[in-house]
Amino acid sequence: MANVYPEAVCICKKFDLSDAQMQEVVSRLTEEMTMGLTKDTHPRAVVKCWITYVQDLPTGQERGKYLALDLGGTNFRVLLVDLKSETEVDIQSKIYAMEQSLMKGPGKDLFDFIAECLANFVQEQKVENEELPLGFTFSFPVQQLGLANGVLVAWTKGFSCEGVEGRNVVELLQEAIVRRGNLKINIVAILNDTTGTLMSCAFKKLNCRIGLIVGTGCNACYVEKTANAQVYEDYQTSSKPNMIINCEWGAFGDNGVLDFIRTPYDKVVDKSTPNKGRQTFEKCISGMYLGELVRLIMVELKEQGVLFKGVDSQLLQQKWTFESRFLSEVEADPPCSYCKTSKVLDEYGIRCAPDSDKACVRYICETISRRSAKLVACGLACLIKRMNNKDLSVGIDGSVYRFHPKYHDLLIEFMQKLLGPCFNFELVLSEDGSGRGAALIAAVAAQK
Ligand code: BGC
Ligand code: MG
Repeated sequence: MANVYPEAVCICKKFDLSDAQMQEVVSRLTEEMTMGLTKDTHPRAVVKCWITYVQDLPTGQERGKYLALDLGGTNFRVLLVDLKSETEVDIQSKIYAMEQSLMKGPGKDLFDFIAECLANFVQEQKVENEELPLGFTFSFPVQQLGLANGVLVAWTKGFSCEGVEGRNVVELLQEAIVRRGNLKINIVAILNDTTGTLMSCAFKKLNCRIGLIVGTGCNACYVEKTANAQVYEDYQTSSKPNMIINCEWGAFGDNGVLDFIRTPYDKVVDKSTPNKGRQTFEKCISGMYLGELVRLIMVELKEQGVLFKGVDSQLLQQKWTFESRFLSEVEADPPCSYCKTSKVLDEYGIRCAPDSDKACVRYICETISRRSAKLVACGLACLIKRMNNKDLSVGIDGSVYRFHPKYHDLLIEFMQKLLGPCFNFELVLSEDGSGRGAALIAAVAAQK
């Protein structure tokens, strides 16, 4: 890195994972997952590997109209999904703006808001009298006790509504629906976004076995043998061979096993979140945190008198202002141009920075993105080796994967490094898992 300030290179080195460290991450995650799946160790496991009660992948024959709710990503959405044929799926959806205060206020307000949006949506779509089955995509760690029974374990991604942790969120939504009085809706399933993503991808790709989200948060689910899902009461007797497992790998490292790769910057980020000490792996990877890591490094280099000399940027000093979409923009510039980078810096009131500053900002963004992709590749390699599946597709969604110009290629590069030539895999953008996937699961549930 001839043209990058040596002080920046020095900081960024801390984020550079060696091949040996990556292999170590894979083997530690493998151990943690075994603890999550095994009955005796599950209660104290950090990577919980929750059962989802979804045991069938779609057949392609699912039909009908379903409602879906999508809570826990960048947007809150309500959807009407019409599975018309294998090739024709009609999706109507509406995004509802959610005030920050709803994410942190009383749980009751959150669920009343969701019910209100639902009421508004079914009326707009003129299906208010149809009593449609609804799949609730609720993208947080949930202990499922049935397909339509899920207890929130802990909020993540900046949510912290009171009175929801430890409660069955399907019940909370049902209560809010009853409070309104005028809504006819049948909640048939609660699911994680990773599960929706896997289902949605499997509808088209028969060999899909993993659902991955790299967005505001990060997590994956995969197809496990029912016999290995010991937390499931029927794991030895179930006639169904498979069970989708929601890994909740975001929590990997909460017991210290990732301390060997964490940097001081990761610890600073953690301290400014409402869920301190939790979601260690996720905080190294997902969109909610990548920008803050970049910002912290820039601030340090500025304080050292290396970067943005003589510039006074108030905004740069403010937490959480550097959004993950800025990394995507900065890294989209071609090698010798800084057009998009300049625009991003402009938003910070940093004008006429020299090219050497812009090269440095890009280098920092690349460093943080690379580490994120390396860690996700470790997670995927762990799952693929565990299933020992030599030919599969991974359905992926999330804002980081979608909008980062190089993330897909980075993932493939690092996975090949970890898996060698014997494994064939394809990484597929899964279209709207939270809607289509929720409808597919609702379809299976409604048949019963
Ligand atoms: C949640 C997961 C979710 C992931 C991606 C994490 O914070 O714990 O349940 O799948 O974010 O949305
Ligand atoms: Mg989403």
